[in-house]
Amino acid sequence: MTRLDGKVCVVTGAASGIGRRIAEVYAQAGGLVAIADLKLEAAETVARQIRDDGGDALAVAMDVTDEAQVVDGIAKVIAHYGKVDVLVSNAGIQIVNKLTDFSLADWKKMLAIHLDGAFLTTRECLKDMEQRGAGGAIIYMGSVHSHLASKLKAPYVTAKHGLLGLARTVAKEAAGYGVRANVICPGFVRTPLVDKQIPEQARELGISEDEVVKNVMLKDTVDGEFTTVDDVANVALTLAAFETNALTGQSVVVSHGWFMQ
Ligand code: NAD
Repeated sequence: MTRLDGKVCVVTGAASGIGRRIAEVYAQAGGLVAIADLKLEAAETVARQIRDDGGDALAVAMDVTDEAQVVDGIAKVIAHYGKVDVLVSNAGIQIVNKLTDFSLADWKKMLAIHLDGAFLTTRECLKDMEQRGAGGAIIYMGSVHSHLASKLKAPYVTAKHGLLGLARTVAKEAAGYGVRANVICPGFVRTPLVDKQIPEQARELGISEDEVVKNVMLKDTVDGEFTTVDDVANVALTLAAFETNALTGQSVVVSHGWFMQ
Protein backbone atom coordinates (compact mmCIF):
# COMPACT_ATOMS: atom_id res chain seq x y z
CA MET A 1 0.00 0.00 0.00
CA THR A 2 1.13 3.54 -0.69
CA ARG A 3 2.20 5.04 2.65
CA LEU A 4 1.88 8.45 4.32
CA ASP A 5 3.70 7.55 7.54
CA GLY A 6 4.16 10.61 9.75
CA LYS A 7 2.70 12.98 7.14
CA VAL A 8 0.30 15.58 8.53
CA CYS A 9 -2.73 15.83 6.26
CA VAL A 10 -5.41 18.50 6.50
CA VAL A 11 -8.68 17.51 4.83
CA THR A 12 -11.43 20.13 4.68
CA GLY A 13 -15.05 19.04 4.57
CA ALA A 14 -13.91 15.73 6.09
CA ALA A 15 -16.94 15.24 8.33
CA SER A 16 -18.89 13.71 5.42
CA GLY A 17 -18.79 12.03 2.02
CA ILE A 18 -15.63 12.15 -0.08
CA GLY A 19 -13.56 14.10 2.46
CA ARG A 20 -14.39 11.63 5.22
CA ARG A 21 -13.27 8.67 3.12
CA ILE A 22 -10.04 10.45 2.14
CA ALA A 23 -9.32 11.13 5.82
CA GLU A 24 -9.94 7.45 6.70
CA VAL A 25 -7.74 6.17 3.86
CA TYR A 26 -4.95 8.63 4.75
CA ALA A 27 -5.08 7.49 8.38
CA GLN A 28 -4.91 3.82 7.31
CA ALA A 29 -1.82 4.74 5.28
CA GLY A 30 -0.13 6.16 8.39
CA GLY A 31 -1.08 9.82 7.94
CA LEU A 32 -1.89 12.09 10.90
CA VAL A 33 -5.17 13.59 9.81
CA ALA A 34 -6.85 16.90 10.65
CA ILE A 35 -10.60 16.66 10.06
CA ALA A 36 -11.45 20.30 9.29
CA ASP A 37 -15.15 21.01 8.93
CA LEU A 38 -17.89 23.52 9.56
CA LYS A 39 -19.64 20.83 11.60
CA LEU A 40 -17.37 20.29 14.63
CA GLU A 41 -19.48 17.58 16.25
CA ALA A 42 -19.53 15.50 13.07
CA ALA A 43 -15.78 16.10 12.61
CA GLU A 44 -15.17 14.89 16.18
CA THR A 45 -17.15 11.74 15.46
CA VAL A 46 -15.00 10.99 12.38
CA ALA A 47 -11.78 11.72 14.30
CA ARG A 48 -12.87 9.47 17.19
CA GLN A 49 -13.72 6.66 14.76
CA ILE A 50 -10.28 6.94 13.13
CA ARG A 51 -8.58 6.85 16.56
CA ASP A 52 -10.72 3.84 17.59
CA ASP A 53 -9.49 2.10 14.44
CA GLY A 54 -5.87 2.71 15.48
CA GLY A 55 -5.21 5.87 13.47
CA ASP A 56 -4.34 9.41 14.53
CA ALA A 57 -6.82 12.22 13.90
CA LEU A 58 -7.70 15.66 15.20
CA ALA A 59 -11.02 17.46 14.66
CA VAL A 60 -10.76 21.15 13.82
CA ALA A 61 -13.69 23.59 13.57
CA MET A 62 -13.27 25.55 10.36
CA ASP A 63 -15.54 27.50 8.06
CA VAL A 64 -13.25 27.68 5.02
CA THR A 65 -14.84 30.96 3.90
CA ASP A 66 -13.81 32.70 7.14
CA GLU A 67 -10.22 33.98 7.05
CA ALA A 68 -9.79 34.06 10.85
CA GLN A 69 -11.14 30.51 11.24
CA VAL A 70 -8.80 29.18 8.54
CA VAL A 71 -5.78 30.97 10.05
CA ASP A 72 -6.68 29.68 13.56
CA GLY A 73 -7.54 26.19 12.33
CA ILE A 74 -4.27 25.63 10.46
CA ALA A 75 -2.36 27.15 13.42
CA LYS A 76 -4.08 24.59 15.68
CA VAL A 77 -3.00 21.74 13.39
CA ILE A 78 0.60 23.02 13.42
CA ALA A 79 0.52 23.48 17.22
CA HIS A 80 -0.73 19.88 17.61
CA TYR A 81 1.26 18.02 14.94
CA GLY A 82 4.13 20.46 14.28
CA LYS A 83 3.62 20.89 10.51
CA VAL A 84 1.40 20.37 7.46
CA ASP A 85 2.53 18.06 4.62
CA VAL A 86 -0.69 17.54 2.68
CA LEU A 87 -3.76 19.73 2.14
CA VAL A 88 -6.91 18.38 0.56
CA SER A 89 -9.16 21.36 -0.15
CA ASN A 90 -12.42 19.46 -0.43
CA ALA A 91 -15.18 21.33 1.44
CA GLY A 92 -18.01 22.15 -0.90
CA ILE A 93 -21.72 22.52 -1.40
CA GLN A 94 -24.04 22.56 -4.37
CA ILE A 95 -26.84 24.99 -5.19
CA VAL A 96 -28.75 24.29 -8.41
CA ASN A 97 -30.86 26.92 -10.09
CA LYS A 98 -31.47 28.51 -13.48
CA LEU A 99 -28.96 31.26 -14.10
CA THR A 100 -31.78 33.79 -14.46
CA ASP A 101 -33.11 32.77 -11.02
CA PHE A 102 -29.74 32.72 -9.19
CA SER A 103 -29.47 35.30 -6.42
CA LEU A 104 -26.20 37.18 -6.06
CA ALA A 105 -26.06 35.90 -2.47
CA ASP A 106 -26.12 32.25 -3.60
CA TRP A 107 -23.55 32.96 -6.35
CA LYS A 108 -21.21 34.57 -3.80
CA LYS A 109 -21.77 31.76 -1.28
CA MET A 110 -20.75 29.17 -3.87
CA LEU A 111 -17.62 31.04 -4.97
CA ALA A 112 -16.69 31.70 -1.33
CA ILE A 113 -16.79 28.04 -0.31
CA HIS A 114 -15.12 26.62 -3.41
CA LEU A 115 -12.62 29.37 -4.29
CA ASP A 116 -12.04 31.56 -1.20
CA GLY A 117 -11.81 28.36 0.85
CA ALA A 118 -9.26 26.84 -1.52
CA PHE A 119 -7.21 30.06 -1.54
CA LEU A 120 -7.22 30.61 2.23
CA THR A 121 -6.35 27.03 3.18
CA THR A 122 -3.66 26.91 0.48
CA ARG A 123 -2.09 30.16 1.69
CA GLU A 124 -1.92 29.07 5.31
CA CYS A 125 -0.58 25.57 4.55
CA LEU A 126 1.92 26.80 1.95
CA LYS A 127 3.47 29.24 4.45
CA ASP A 128 4.44 26.26 6.62
CA MET A 129 5.59 24.19 3.64
CA GLU A 130 7.73 27.03 2.27
CA GLN A 131 9.30 27.70 5.67
CA ARG A 132 10.22 24.06 6.28
CA GLY A 133 11.27 23.34 2.68
CA ALA A 134 10.39 19.67 3.07
CA GLY A 135 7.97 19.48 0.15
CA GLY A 136 4.28 18.65 0.23
CA ALA A 137 1.10 18.10 -1.72
CA ILE A 138 -1.94 20.29 -2.29
CA ILE A 139 -4.97 18.55 -3.72
CA TYR A 140 -8.11 20.37 -4.82
CA MET A 141 -11.46 18.62 -5.12
CA GLY A 142 -12.55 19.70 -8.57
CA SER A 143 -15.17 17.85 -10.56
CA VAL A 144 -15.93 16.75 -14.09
CA HIS A 145 -17.47 20.22 -13.92
CA SER A 146 -13.89 21.58 -13.89
CA HIS A 147 -13.93 20.58 -17.59
CA LEU A 148 -17.59 20.45 -18.66
CA ALA A 149 -20.70 22.52 -18.03
CA SER A 150 -24.17 21.37 -17.06
CA LYS A 151 -27.43 23.28 -16.92
CA LEU A 152 -28.45 24.82 -13.57
CA LYS A 153 -24.90 24.84 -12.14
CA ALA A 154 -23.40 28.19 -13.17
CA PRO A 155 -21.47 29.04 -9.97
CA TYR A 156 -20.38 25.43 -9.37
CA VAL A 157 -19.03 25.04 -12.91
CA THR A 158 -17.36 28.46 -12.71
CA ALA A 159 -15.72 27.69 -9.36
CA LYS A 160 -14.61 24.19 -10.33
CA HIS A 161 -13.02 25.54 -13.53
CA GLY A 162 -11.30 28.16 -11.37
CA LEU A 163 -9.60 25.50 -9.26
CA LEU A 164 -7.63 24.38 -12.32
CA GLY A 165 -6.14 27.85 -12.56
CA LEU A 166 -5.30 27.93 -8.87
CA ALA A 167 -3.65 24.50 -8.95
CA ARG A 168 -1.54 25.39 -11.98
CA THR A 169 -0.39 28.63 -10.33
CA VAL A 170 0.47 26.89 -7.06
CA ALA A 171 2.33 24.20 -9.05
CA LYS A 172 4.56 26.93 -10.52
CA GLU A 173 4.99 29.07 -7.40
CA ALA A 174 5.66 26.20 -4.98
CA ALA A 175 7.74 23.88 -7.18
CA GLY A 176 10.94 25.47 -5.86
CA TYR A 177 10.25 24.03 -2.42
CA GLY A 178 8.93 20.69 -3.63
CA VAL A 179 5.19 21.23 -3.31
CA ARG A 180 2.94 19.63 -5.95
CA ALA A 181 -0.60 20.88 -6.68
CA ASN A 182 -3.20 18.82 -8.50
CA VAL A 183 -6.96 18.63 -8.97
CA ILE A 184 -9.12 15.51 -8.65
CA CYS A 185 -12.17 15.63 -10.89
CA PRO A 186 -14.78 13.07 -9.84
CA GLY A 187 -17.96 12.18 -11.69
CA PHE A 188 -21.13 11.78 -9.62
CA VAL A 189 -20.57 10.14 -6.22
CA ARG A 190 -23.53 9.17 -3.99
CA THR A 191 -22.93 11.49 -1.02
CA PRO A 192 -25.37 13.81 0.81
CA LEU A 193 -24.38 16.54 -1.70
CA VAL A 194 -25.69 14.46 -4.61
CA ASP A 195 -28.66 12.92 -2.79
CA LYS A 196 -29.94 16.43 -2.11
CA GLN A 197 -29.74 17.54 -5.74
CA ILE A 198 -31.54 14.56 -7.33
CA PRO A 199 -35.05 15.74 -6.30
CA GLU A 200 -34.05 19.39 -6.93
CA GLN A 201 -32.94 18.63 -10.49
CA ALA A 202 -36.04 16.48 -11.10
CA ARG A 203 -38.22 19.44 -10.13
CA GLU A 204 -36.27 22.01 -12.19
CA LEU A 205 -36.01 19.79 -15.29
CA GLY A 206 -39.56 18.37 -15.01
CA ILE A 207 -38.40 14.72 -15.06
CA SER A 208 -38.44 11.85 -12.55
CA GLU A 209 -35.65 11.25 -10.02
CA ASP A 210 -34.81 8.01 -11.80
CA GLU A 211 -34.41 9.93 -15.05
CA VAL A 212 -32.12 12.45 -13.35
CA VAL A 213 -29.82 9.58 -12.33
CA LYS A 214 -29.95 7.69 -15.64
CA ASN A 215 -30.33 10.46 -18.21
CA VAL A 216 -28.51 13.36 -16.56
CA MET A 217 -25.94 12.13 -14.03
CA LEU A 218 -24.74 8.84 -15.51
CA LYS A 219 -25.80 9.24 -19.16
CA ASP A 220 -22.30 9.71 -20.57
CA THR A 221 -20.39 7.25 -18.38
CA VAL A 222 -19.05 4.11 -20.07
CA ASP A 223 -21.02 1.79 -17.78
CA GLY A 224 -23.86 3.73 -16.09
CA GLU A 225 -22.07 3.51 -12.73
CA PHE A 226 -21.55 6.07 -9.97
CA THR A 227 -17.98 6.87 -8.97
CA THR A 228 -17.38 5.83 -5.34
CA VAL A 229 -15.78 7.56 -2.37
CA ASP A 230 -13.15 4.80 -2.42
CA ASP A 231 -12.29 5.53 -6.07
CA VAL A 232 -11.69 9.18 -5.21
CA ALA A 233 -9.84 8.45 -1.96
CA ASN A 234 -7.44 6.06 -3.70
CA VAL A 235 -6.53 8.74 -6.25
CA ALA A 236 -6.13 11.25 -3.40
CA LEU A 237 -3.74 8.81 -1.69
CA THR A 238 -1.62 8.43 -4.82
CA LEU A 239 -1.42 12.21 -5.30
CA ALA A 240 -0.55 12.80 -1.63
CA ALA A 241 2.23 10.19 -1.63
CA PHE A 242 3.73 10.92 -5.06
CA GLU A 243 7.30 12.02 -4.50
CA THR A 244 8.39 14.27 -7.35
CA ASN A 245 7.33 17.35 -9.28
CA ALA A 246 6.73 15.10 -12.32
CA LEU A 247 3.06 14.97 -11.35
CA THR A 248 2.00 18.55 -10.72
CA GLY A 249 -0.42 21.08 -12.20
CA GLN A 250 -2.64 18.24 -13.45
CA SER A 251 -6.26 17.26 -13.16
CA VAL A 252 -7.06 13.59 -12.69
CA VAL A 253 -10.57 12.73 -13.87
CA VAL A 254 -12.24 9.84 -11.99
CA SER A 255 -15.63 9.55 -13.67
CA HIS A 256 -16.27 6.16 -15.32
CA GLY A 257 -15.30 7.74 -18.62
CA TRP A 258 -17.91 10.51 -18.46
CA PHE A 259 -15.17 12.97 -19.41
CA MET A 260 -12.05 11.78 -21.23
CA GLN A 261 -9.13 14.23 -21.48
P1 NAD B 1 -20.80 16.24 1.42
O1 NAD B 1 -21.98 17.12 1.51
O2 NAD B 1 -20.95 14.78 1.73
O3 NAD B 1 -19.60 16.81 2.33
C1 NAD B 1 -19.20 18.15 2.27
C2 NAD B 1 -18.60 18.53 3.62
O4 NAD B 1 -18.15 19.89 3.51
C3 NAD B 1 -19.60 18.48 4.79
O5 NAD B 1 -19.02 17.79 5.89
C4 NAD B 1 -19.82 19.97 5.12
O6 NAD B 1 -20.09 20.19 6.52
C5 NAD B 1 -18.50 20.56 4.71
N1 NAD B 1 -18.60 22.00 4.44
C6 NAD B 1 -19.55 22.66 3.73
N2 NAD B 1 -19.32 23.98 3.75
C7 NAD B 1 -18.18 24.17 4.47
C8 NAD B 1 -17.43 25.31 4.85
N3 NAD B 1 -17.80 26.54 4.50
N4 NAD B 1 -16.30 25.12 5.60
C9 NAD B 1 -15.92 23.88 5.98
N5 NAD B 1 -16.61 22.76 5.67
C10 NAD B 1 -17.73 22.91 4.92
O7 NAD B 1 -20.24 16.45 -0.07
P2 NAD B 1 -19.26 15.59 -1.00
O8 NAD B 1 -20.07 15.04 -2.11
O9 NAD B 1 -18.41 14.69 -0.20
O10 NAD B 1 -18.40 16.77 -1.63
C11 NAD B 1 -17.05 17.03 -1.28
C12 NAD B 1 -16.38 17.76 -2.42
O11 NAD B 1 -16.39 16.92 -3.58
C13 NAD B 1 -17.06 19.07 -2.83
O12 NAD B 1 -16.08 20.04 -3.12
C14 NAD B 1 -17.82 18.68 -4.08
O13 NAD B 1 -18.02 19.77 -4.94
C15 NAD B 1 -16.87 17.67 -4.68
N6 NAD B 1 -17.47 16.78 -5.66
C16 NAD B 1 -18.52 15.98 -5.30
C17 NAD B 1 -19.07 15.12 -6.25
C18 NAD B 1 -20.22 14.24 -5.92
O14 NAD B 1 -20.82 13.71 -6.87
N7 NAD B 1 -20.56 14.01 -4.66
C19 NAD B 1 -18.55 15.10 -7.56
C20 NAD B 1 -17.49 15.93 -7.88
C21 NAD B 1 -16.95 16.76 -6.91
